[in-house]
Amino acid sequence: MHAEVIAIGDELTSGQRLDTNSQWLSERLGELGLRTLYHSTVGDDLAANVRVFREAIDRSDIIVCTGGLGPTADDLTRQAIADTIGVELVLDEDSLARIRAMFARRKREMPERNVIQAMFPTGSRPIPNPHGTAPGIDRRVERVGRTACRLFALPGVPAEMREMWEQTVSPAVQEMTGGRRVIRHHQIKCFGVGESDLEQMLPDIIARGRQPSVGITVHKATITLRITAEAENEAACFESMQPTIATIRDCLGSLIFGQENDELQHTVADMLNTRSQSLATIEWGSGGLLADWLSEVDHTSHVFAGGIVVRNHEALAATLRETGYGRGAADQATVVRIMASHVRDQFATDYALALGAFPSSDTVDTEAGELHFALATPTTVLTKSVPFTGHPDILKERAVKQALNFLRLTLLE
Ligand code: AMP
Ligand code: MG
Repeated sequence: MHAEVIAIGDELTSGQRLDTNSQWLSERLGELGLRTLYHSTVGDDLAANVRVFREAIDRSDIIVCTGGLGPTADDLTRQAIADTIGVELVLDEDSLARIRAMFARRKREMPERNVIQAMFPTGSRPIPNPHGTAPGIDRRVERVGRTACRLFALPGVPAEMREMWEQTVSPAVQEMTGGRRVIRHHQIKCFGVGESDLEQMLPDIIARGRQPSVGITVHKATITLRITAEAENEAACFESMQPTIATIRDCLGSLIFGQENDELQHTVADMLNTRSQSLATIEWGSGGLLADWLSEVDHTSHVFAGGIVVRNHEALAATLRETGYGRGAADQATVVRIMASHVRDQFATDYALALGAFPSSDTVDTEAGELHFALATPTTVLTKSVPFTGHPDILKERAVKQALNFLRLTLLE
């Protein structure tokens, strides 16, 4: 048994709005042990909707569609479902009474066109919508020589859609699957090597068809290992993942910095917080991103005392005036070293992290420039440099992650 999610609306197919409903619904279906094999997105066109429904009914056992249940002329989902299965739209008096009552509570006259929201393809069950006017549609669709398909239509408004899923559709789907299986995920977050290097460090656990399955994704240099298990309940899922998680931890060691939604700044802030230690930053190339990430994580500002952002030599010279910087030429490694120790003094913190100027990344033909970091600790100043190459879209975020990872690995020692 597998599912299909259909998103309906011109605002989606024209690119004006991102279809977040399909993502959300597929995650929920997955949690109930159902694989979503198709996502379809279709504009507000009756013939196109009918084609999409016809195909979905033929190829999927459970269909959840969202959108097109409003009262206006461009909302065609009811009609499309009725046309697809060859039945009439009939008025449901109870639903109409509920819609009228909703308008009455808002002290408004119900416009006549809202009557359409109480019309259902014959044989449907209305899905109550506690906070909106449009009820949803629940319809069994018979298929010759096969089990029936179950079609659920929900409004596009995400809050209404989610509430109706939780209250009505999810229990109905669980009844269909017998509540037999659930699927759960666990994510392990890594930083510091490339995706294929990381894969080579692991035994053959990324293989297709393995249970639990392990997938690798990379987003802006952070690698996520996503472990997926299917079992009769949540506890059994997590239990069955444990050997795989242990293997991954053994193989990857300190490349792993966190799990689930952790980012490097969370890990670093937690580590410093546990030791009751503080941090200041000074950054040149990253324009304040390092300070921004740390300040978002450390709401209490116990850990992150503050940071300085410089954008050119003059600003840096003014900031470092007392240190004598600028009187002689200095290489970048020396510059970041001075930046880190000066800021550690100025902010009176345990650590100070400095991120240097970005070298030109326009180095297709020439050798890559180096990006320099320095970390002033209670006892010394450490430096590190990395080649500065890659897609321009990720350079800044990766540089900040490299700086945070440098601090993390130092704290681990
Ligand atoms: P509708 O039910 O088609 O009248 O949609 C109502 C509103 O819900 C639209 O104007 C969108 O703002 C929003 N919406 C519809 N479909 C989606 C979707 N798939 N993902 C996110 N928002 C949606
Ligand atoms: Mg619409």
